[in-house]
Amino acid sequence: MSYPYEAPVSQTLFDRAAVVTPGGVNSPVRAFRAVGGTPRFMVSGTGPYLTDADGREYVDLVCSWGPMILGHAHPAVIDAVQAAVARGTSFGTPGQGEVELAEEIVARVTPVEQVRLVSSGTEATMSAIRLARGFTGRAKVIKFAGCYHGHVDALLAAAGSGVATFGLPDTPGVTGAQAGDTIVLPYNDLDAVREAFAANSGQIACVITEASPGNMGVVPPLPGFNQGLADLCRQNGALHISDEVMTGFRVSKAGWYGLDGVTPDLMTFGKVMGGGFPAAAFGGRADVMAHLAPAGPVYQAGTLSGNPVATAAGLAQLRLLDDAAYATVDAVAAQVSTLVSEALAKEGVAHRLQTAGNMFSVFFTDEAVTDFEKAKAQQAYRFTPFFHSMLAQGVYLPPSAFESWFVSTAHDDAAVERIASALPAAARAAAEATEAAGE
Ligand SMILES: *Cc1c(COP(=O)(O)O)cnc(C)c1O
Repeated sequence: MSYPYEAPVSQTLFDRAAVVTPGGVNSPVRAFRAVGGTPRFMVSGTGPYLTDADGREYVDLVCSWGPMILGHAHPAVIDAVQAAVARGTSFGTPGQGEVELAEEIVARVTPVEQVRLVSSGTEATMSAIRLARGFTGRAKVIKFAGCYHGHVDALLAAAGSGVATFGLPDTPGVTGAQAGDTIVLPYNDLDAVREAFAANSGQIACVITEASPGNMGVVPPLPGFNQGLADLCRQNGALHISDEVMTGFRVSKAGWYGLDGVTPDLMTFGKVMGGGFPAAAFGGRADVMAHLAPAGPVYQAGTLSGNPVATAAGLAQLRLLDDAAYATVDAVAAQVSTLVSEALAKEGVAHRLQTAGNMFSVFFTDEAVTDFEKAKAQQAYRFTPFFHSMLAQGVYLPPSAFESWFVSTAHDDAAVERIASALPAAARAAAEATEAAGE
C-alpha cells in the first residue's frame, strides 16, 4: 500500500539502525513489519503525546506497552528519578528503595507474601518457572496458545492449531529439550487442562497464564476460567502462576487479581511497576518463595536487580496510582473504545471491541474472540490502512492487530478529541480495505 506521508528523518535513522542492529530495532514489533512503512523514532514524550524525529506529534495509545500509565515525563516520577540518580545509580548492595517497593507490592496484592525484584518481565516468568520446578520437583509446564510470557526458551512454544501439543518450539534456537516439557493448550479451555493433568499425572510443575491475556489482542478469561485453573492446580499438586506483567498495577491497584480475586501461588509483574525503567518482580506464597537462594536452594540473581533508580521510578509511580487515578484511566479507556466502536459501526465494519478493565483492542470479526485461533481468524488486513490513517492524523496505535491499546491518566479531553476526529477517516479506510491491498 502507499502510506499517507513520509517520515524522512525516521527513515534515515532506521536505515542507519539496520546496518548495526538486526532489523533496525531492539524489539521486533517496533519494526512495523505487520503494518509496513517507516517505524517512527521518538525523541520525546509529554503527557499523552509523543514527538518523533520529524517533529510530528502523536497521541500515544501504546504508552510504552503499558508502563506509562501516568503519561510521559510525569513531574513526580521525573523528580524521584533525578533525586535517585544524584545519589548514585547502582551499588550492588541492598538498598532502602527495594524494601519500599517490595512493601508496596505486598501491601497491594494479597496473594503476594514475598517478592523478588528483577529487571524484566522475561526474567520474572523465567525465574517463577524455575522456582515452580524446584519447589515441586516436577518438569512439565502448561501454557496457553496466544499467551506471551517474554522470550523465555521454554515458553516460546506457542504451537499451532487446536490440539494439545507437546512443545514444538516455534523459533529456531530453542531446542526440543527446552520446549519438550512445555504443554501448549487452547486458552479458555478448562477441559483441555483437565485432560493434560490426567495424561501427565504427577509431572506438571505449574500452569502459567496471563491473568487476562493482552498479547493476542485483549482476550479476557471466561467467567470461572482462572478459578478453574487455581482449583485444578491445587488438586494436582501443581503451582498456578498468574502472569500480571501487563495487567499488574494497570487494571486496578492490585492488577487483575483486584478484579477477579482468584488467588494464584505465584505472580509476575513488570511494565507499570517500573515506572518506565527496567524493574520487574515475581512473588507469591512465602513457603514457595522460601525455596529461593539465599533462603533456599533455587538459584536466582541479578547485578541490576532492585536498581535504585528503577525502584525510585516504580515507587513514585505506584504511590500516585490511587483509586482516583484508576477511575480516570478506566473512564478514558471506556471513552476511547466507545468512539472506536462507533466509528467502525458507522462504516459498517464488522468488529469486536474487547475489554479487560482499562485494556482494550479491536478485532475485525463478528465473533467473540476467546482464544488464539479465533484471534488469528480476524480480518487483520483491515487493521493496516486503519493504523496508517490514524498515524497520518497524529494518533499512534500499536503497530499490530494483535496487541492491547493503552491509555493513561494524562489522556485529557484534547487528546481524546484528537482521536475522535481521526477515527472517521480511519474507519473508512478499514471499510475499503481488501485482502490483497492489506498485504
Ligand atoms: C511484556 C510481557 C512480558 C515480558 O516482559 P519484558 O519486560 O518485555 O521481558 C511477560 N509477560 C507478559 C504478560 C507481558 O505482557
